[in-house]
Formats: sequence, structure tokens, C-alpha cells
Amino acid sequence: MMEFTKDFKIPDPVPQAGIDRAVKLMETGRMYRYNFHAEFEEEIEPSESELDDELATEVAKLEYEFSRYIGHKYAIAVNSCGSALFMSLKAAGLEYQDKVFTNAFTFTAVPSSIVHAGGVPIYLECNSQYLIDVEDFKRKIEEHPDAKYFIVSHMRGHVSDMEAIKAICDEQGIYIIEDCAHSLGAKWDNGKYVGHTAKIACFSSQSYKMLNSGEGGFIATSDERVAAYCILAAGCYEKLYKKHLARPFNDEIFEELKPHVPNFSLRMNNLTAAVLRPQIKILDEKIERYKQLYRQLKSILNTVEGVLIPPSLDRVERAPDSMQFNLLNLTKSQVDRFVKDTAVRGLKIQIFGRLDNARYFKNWQYSFTEMPELKQTEEIIACACDLRLSPSFTTEDIDTIGSIIKDVLKNIVGETNEVLSSV
Ligand SMILES: *Cc1c(COP(=O)(O)O)cnc(C)c1O
Repeated sequence: MMEFTKDFKIPDPVPQAGIDRAVKLMETGRMYRYNFHAEFEEEIEPSESELDDELATEVAKLEYEFSRYIGHKYAIAVNSCGSALFMSLKAAGLEYQDKVFTNAFTFTAVPSSIVHAGGVPIYLECNSQYLIDVEDFKRKIEEHPDAKYFIVSHMRGHVSDMEAIKAICDEQGIYIIEDCAHSLGAKWDNGKYVGHTAKIACFSSQSYKMLNSGEGGFIATSDERVAAYCILAAGCYEKLYKKHLARPFNDEIFEELKPHVPNFSLRMNNLTAAVLRPQIKILDEKIERYKQLYRQLKSILNTVEGVLIPPSLDRVERAPDSMQFNLLNLTKSQVDRFVKDTAVRGLKIQIFGRLDNARYFKNWQYSFTEMPELKQTEEIIACACDLRLSPSFTTEDIDTIGSIIKDVLKNIVGETNEVLSSV
């Protein structure tokens, strides 16, 4: 019997340059992001030579490099994407008990960030492509005309119809924030990176995302006021904003906002930035590798009866670090059996719509007083499988994964047919 023996939870390693830099920082103790002398009054290229002696400029440089990569004017590095989403809502002006639309199919960190900011999530159904159901969005606007914020979560890198969503939001005066935790590197209309529909886009560098620093996140924006707010809210006090390279060079805006913005102490530290900076240099290469593996697995699974990989929108070029697919025509116990039998052979497949999964809205009771009715989402995620990929997988590994899924499913369906024909 064919088995898969590699670890699915294996994170991507830190390039040697990042390890060396982190060690140097620890030797000097300069882990705090503001522990250096330079101040920036205008935009400069943070070339290694100029700022190299200023060891502790790692976070400042990372913010600059990340903002240039993603194509936003400003970036603020923080301790997680959850924190980035929380601060984005505050920057957008969310007040206590304000309603926030968001996906019913996403990770628990998203509704948690809304609750953290004092808001109340209003969940939207996902469609069969794992995307925001735009018709449901329109219905929910009618039910909640007072809801003026929307965190659109590109769950597992599945990017919704942002053009339709933006048109509706512009008309209704709804403020959009994009959760790009899993869509770093994904592109829209063959050009820009995803994360430019909204004023604010949030990213993650938690271990199972495209960048790995264990924990970490970014807010990217081209809006001066949002950037200044988030720099201050992340934990920048006095004149420390002068130590940011990817900031609005408008000191007045900082001085004006400063007394009104709490310091939430959500800064990134230099060790985190040191291990991330060399990863940005190889990001495109890594995304390409993920795409190859994904394409290979997709072409295998497309030949398996009973498996459906929902198509993404034509305008979206995904950067997938995991595979999602639906099991068709199986009962709940057959789906559970599929998970068990593939696990015996070394695969780690999770079903989103299960009570042991943090991506199932029924587990988010902290966010509502009455269980929301989300029949469509419920039905889709009850048979939606999640399988992580790793750039360390070989083409042989992908063949093995594909064969195991095929085999296990054939057995389950075969047995059912036997039972049926003997009745
Ligand atoms: C991981 C993830 C987050 C949260 O990221 P953290 O950096 O762990 O806070 C938010 N949204 C989605 C869709 C995620 O997958």
C-alpha cells in the first residue's frame, strides 16, 4: 500500500542570511525596532551600505522592501495579521458595537479581530467557488443598512469578485479592508498584486503563510492618514515616526494624530524582520514553485471521479500554498472516513466544516448571541477538503498524494456501490 511519509506541517526554513543577521542582532541586543540613531526626513533607498552599521534598522528596511514589493506607498510591520486587521478597523474609524461584514468561510482570527476592535461581525455566505456570494451581500445590506465596514477575507487565497464588491461598497459608503493573509503574491487582471481594491490590505507571516517568521504581519496602504494612524497605534511614540522609511513624510499629520491614538504595543521586532528580509528576495521563486506543485496536483485530481476543484475567477492568478477541493456525493460519515483513511496513509486532510476546525463559523460563538443561519456555506464546507503543500515536496511526492486520494476514494465509493447492488 502506497504511503506518504513527509511532514505536512513542515514550515519553510529561514535563508542563511537571515539567520546570520538575527545572530548578529542578538549579540548586540538591538532587537527593539527603534534602537538606532538615524532619522528619515525624506524617502531614501535603504541600501545595505548606508544603513548597514545601523544594525537595528531591520524593521524599517523590511517595511520599505515590503511596500515596494506589494506596490503600496506605506507599510507597517506588526506582530500578526490579526493585529493588522484590528488596527485597520480602528484606523477606519470603527466604534463600539459597529457592524462589520465579513466572510462566513474564513479563519477565526478574522471575526476575532472584529470583536477585538469592539465590532460585531455580520457573516456573508460563500458560493461554490469559496468566494463571497455577492447576492447574499446585497441581501445582508438590506437587513443591516447601518453596517459600514467590510473585511473581505481572501480565504486560502481565493479572491472574490472585488470589482462587484467595490461597486456596491462605493455606492453604500462601506469601507473595505482586505485580508490578504493567504493571498500574498496573487494577482488581479494579470498585473497588480491583490490588495489594492481596498484602502487597507493586511498580510501575515505566520509560519504557514508565504513568508515565515513564526509570527508577524503587515498593514499596507497608500493612504497617508491610515498609515500615520497605524504607525502610532502599533506602538510608535514621541518622534519615533522619524525612524520609519515607508511612512508619509508629513510630520504634521503625526503630531496632530498622536494625542488621539492609543499605543497598542503591536510592533514587530528586529529579529522577526531579519528573518523575513531575505525571504522577500526569493518570494517570486517560491510562489512559482508552489504554483507548479499546485498545477500538478490539480491535473491529477481533475481526473478523479467525485472530486471537484472549484475554478477561480478568470481575472485572478492565485498563489496557492494549499489545495482545496470538494468531495461530491458522499455522506458525512464517508467524508470522515476519507479523512481517516488518507491519514492512515500519511496525508493530513482537514474538512473545514467540522467542529474541530477553527475555520467553521459554528466555533465562533464569542462573536454572536444567536447562531447565524448560513445554510449555503454550511453545505459547501461540510465536504470541502484542505491540504497543505510545501515547496520541499517533489513531483514524485505530488504523484503519491494524488494516487492515495484516488485510491481511498475509489475504495469508499466502490464499497457503497457493492452495498447498493446487493440491496
Ligand atoms: C492566518 C490567517 C489570518 C491571521 O493571521 P495571523 O498572522 O496568524 O494573525 C487571517 N486571515 C486568514 C484568512 C488567515 O489564513
